[in-house]
Amino acid sequence: MLPASQDFNRRRARIIRAVLAVSSVTLLLLAVIGIRLVDGIDEQTRIHEQAMVARGLDLRMNELEQAITPQVDWDDAVTHMGGRLDGAWADAYFGGFMHTQVGATRAFVVNGQGLPVYAARNGRPFAGSPARGMAPFAPAVEQMVADLRRRETPAARSVPANGSALARAVHTTSLARAEGGIWMLSGHLIQPDSDKVIPVPGPLSVALVAVPLDKDVLTRFGQRYRIGDLAIAFAPPSDSRMARIELHASDGQALAWMAWTPRRPGAELMRAITLPMALLLFAFATGAVIFLREASKITRELIASEARARHVASHDQLTGLPNRALMFDRLRTVLAMARRRRGGMMGSDSPVLAIHCLDLDRFKGVNDTLGHHAGDELIQQVAQMLIGLCRESDTVARLGGDEFVILQPGATPTAASHLAQRVVAQLTRPFALTFGTVEIGCSIGVTIVSDASIDASEALRQADLALYASKEGGRGCTTFFEPEMHAALRLRRSLETDLRRALSFGDLTMVYQVQVDDRGRLRGVEALARWTHSERGVIMPGVFVPLAEESGLIHELGDYILTRVFAETRHWHGLSVAINISALQLRSPAFMTTMRQMIERHAIDPERYDLEITETALLGEDGVTRDNLVALAEAGFTITLDDFGTGYSSLANLRRFAVDKIKIDRSFVQNIDTDQEAEALVEAIVRLGLAMKLEIVAEGVETEAQRQRLIQCGCHQFQGYLLGRPVPAGELERAILLS
Ligand code: C2E
Ligand code: CA
Ligand code: CA
Repeated sequence: MLPASQDFNRRRARIIRAVLAVSSVTLLLLAVIGIRLVDGIDEQTRIHEQAMVARGLDLRMNELEQAITPQVDWDDAVTHMGGRLDGAWADAYFGGFMHTQVGATRAFVVNGQGLPVYAARNGRPFAGSPARGMAPFAPAVEQMVADLRRRETPAARSVPANGSALARAVHTTSLARAEGGIWMLSGHLIQPDSDKVIPVPGPLSVALVAVPLDKDVLTRFGQRYRIGDLAIAFAPPSDSRMARIELHASDGQALAWMAWTPRRPGAELMRAITLPMALLLFAFATGAVIFLREASKITRELIASEARARHVASHDQLTGLPNRALMFDRLRTVLAMARRRRGGMMGSDSPVLAIHCLDLDRFKGVNDTLGHHAGDELIQQVAQMLIGLCRESDTVARLGGDEFVILQPGATPTAASHLAQRVVAQLTRPFALTFGTVEIGCSIGVTIVSDASIDASEALRQADLALYASKEGGRGCTTFFEPEMHAALRLRRSLETDLRRALSFGDLTMVYQVQVDDRGRLRGVEALARWTHSERGVIMPGVFVPLAEESGLIHELGDYILTRVFAETRHWHGLSVAINISALQLRSPAFMTTMRQMIERHAIDPERYDLEITETALLGEDGVTRDNLVALAEAGFTITLDDFGTGYSSLANLRRFAVDKIKIDRSFVQNIDTDQEAEALVEAIVRLGLAMKLEIVAEGVETEAQRQRLIQCGCHQFQGYLLGRPVPAGELERAILLS
């Protein structure tokens, strides 16, 4: 799994956890708030109902009182019940009347001496004595009577003066427990309602009625307040949610409890909103899940495209190998890990890693001759081969073109050398491409890093320097980095800078070396470049020409030399002048344009100029090179193949490129009088040249013996110290004038 998606999963889990936590806390809070709200509402309702019922009971007692008052605050009542009791009247106007009018199932009259004188039950006179009839109610009745007596006023029995009001009705109510039930009792002083009747002397008689709080009464009461299950209990209800009011006697003693199930609007509300809320929650949860899933999908896609982009940015498109950036990344990681392992202690000797810089030999040739498709195919095959040769812990990277790098962590010099040898061996074997079989090779530079504090780019530079040395020392080999290479590189760098300056300041001059025939006649000269360095003295072309070729300065140098030679030699009529042309100059499409401009500017005759090219220039079979050579020949220049015999001379090359002249290399001439083989070779070259009607010149002739042997071989033109050292133009001119 990619680290990015691991990271994503971790983050998603964190988000989901957070969402879940927030949702559950919210839900819990909502539930708690809901429950408290519901409880609060229900509690308020219960308190309210209790107050309402208590007030209702008071009202009911009050009603009872009001209903009795007209019957006992009445002259007739004083007459018939105030003194001697008139049983028939009491039955009709008190006991019976109260029963039918207010549902009083008990009615009593207590006389001035406190004795019960009348008792009625269910509207009819009690069968036994009034005292027995009243006995169950006696304690409550005695208290009420005592209360009423305390409130008795003299107005009740005096004639009011000046029409002032009669005595006010005096009555009281109380609850009582009797006959296994709770009763509402109402007691009244029996008083006249006019001045026509005067009560008998002594305390006033008291009339009392009792209404049972029985099922019927409770039901009617409940209906009034919309309470269904109103009941009397003699112990407080155990269910705390039940509504209740305490019923007590006038002395405050608890008698019983009126209890009922209160309405629970909170709970009802809860029931009413639970379903919609649940639906809402469900919708919310579904929405959240869908949102999360969509968001995850988008994020995952983003991560994937980011990962793709990262892969593209860090890998080579053609081979899929890590590119320069990723290679550097890994290199830095390996170095950092080594530093950490060594706990910051530098200079441990165990190797950190080996870095191999690889450069394919002759890759350009494949690209040029077989095309870019073949080049791409070859690079892919090389990449596969390198991966096959390396371990999984190694990194094979392509830096571009035909450059590869292998990072080999923990490799000893021996291990690094083994790998390099295997790579060279594999890469020198032929590669079968769709377009044909090709043979390449490779040069390797290796550095063994044992100091983990080294800078990554410095480490790579070391391997690169070693690679450079490999290429210098002939291709197909492996070189290990040595610190001296730095010094060599520094020297090269400073020489490069100096050469650039020398070209602009004109510090390069030309010398000319004569070419003569066997009769000593001057046939031509070869122009050779010299660089007089302000500190290093004269630097020979064998040093600075390759430097110019590698640094890209060769075109500037070439133009400089052509300009200089044309300017110095244009008036040397009848004398052929040979100029050395680098293979790189010939490979440049702009070369002919420059040449034509110079011909025009210096007004020279190309027929007098001889361009010396080496065989390597003809090798890659470069289209541009051929075009340039054809154009040069057409312009009238003579083409000479320099250093003949040292390269991969082939007859085909000589024919195809319209060469006019060959120059036998110095190395053959030097040994011609001592080495039979050299002599045979020179003979063969001369024969070949003559057969192809080519001019032949031998260079590096230092002795008369050499000259003689060359003449014997059939060569009649010579160049060398024997005939003359290279000299500046002025010196040559003077010498010619003298001769
Ligand atoms: P080359 O073209 O083979 O030039 C001949 C070299 O042999 C010259 O060395 C010359 O001084 C040297 N030489 C001449 N006679 C004798 C002799 O009798 N004995 C020995 N031992 N050497 C002799 P030089 O001038 O150092 O040039 C070296 C090479 O540098 C040349 O080899 C040529 O390839 C290159 N070069 C020189 N001048 C130019 C130039 O103007 N342009 C380019 N592209 N290359 C140049
Ligand atoms: Ca030459
Ligand atoms: Ca030569």
